[in-house]
Amino acid sequence: MLKKVVKWTVLVIATIVLTLTSLSTTILASASKPTPSWGSWNDTTITYKTNTSSSYYKSVWKNAVKRWNKVGVVQLKAAKSGEKADITLTSSQSLSTKSGKLAGYTNYSYLKKSDNNQIVSAKSTLNRSLLTKYGYTKSQRTNVATHEIGHALGLSHSGDKSSVMYASDRYASIDHQDKVGLQDAYEG
Ligand SMILES: [Zn+2]
Repeated sequence: MLKKVVKWTVLVIATIVLTLTSLSTTILASASKPTPSWGSWNDTTITYKTNTSSSYYKSVWKNAVKRWNKVGVVQLKAAKSGEKADITLTSSQSLSTKSGKLAGYTNYSYLKKSDNNQIVSAKSTLNRSLLTKYGYTKSQRTNVATHEIGHALGLSHSGDKSSVMYASDRYASIDHQDKVGLQDAYEG
């Protein structure tokens, strides 16, 4: 008789745990909305060039490019020498912007279309002095570079801390919601 009572207790606990697990999964899934976008390129093949003399920053940019290519929505290809690149990736030692101290920033030009903005050129810059001053590691600098390329591809800021497009963060890389956001911008 006693044995039976114990068994029941175990069963009830197990059921509660299961319910809590499925509940938290549902909450998490609805919290990560796709990263919003402000525009997109006309083609999913986009050329880039790294315009920096520093081999360190060249490799930071290349690693960030690899991450976006791995997502599989757009393909970033190195422009041939003499060819004009769609996106220029560079670094600056003396960064003065009206927005203040930024780890990186992206300038772009685009055509305003009725349904979407068509990006025609973009230039992303990493602020070397700031990144050094605040002790960013190479992988954190790569996260900033990935964030800036995200802007150059048409993504806007996300309010979610696990998104690479979270406005002020050095810790996040490309997350599922960023992948879905890019798909929405190019395939949606
Ligand atoms: Zn940003």
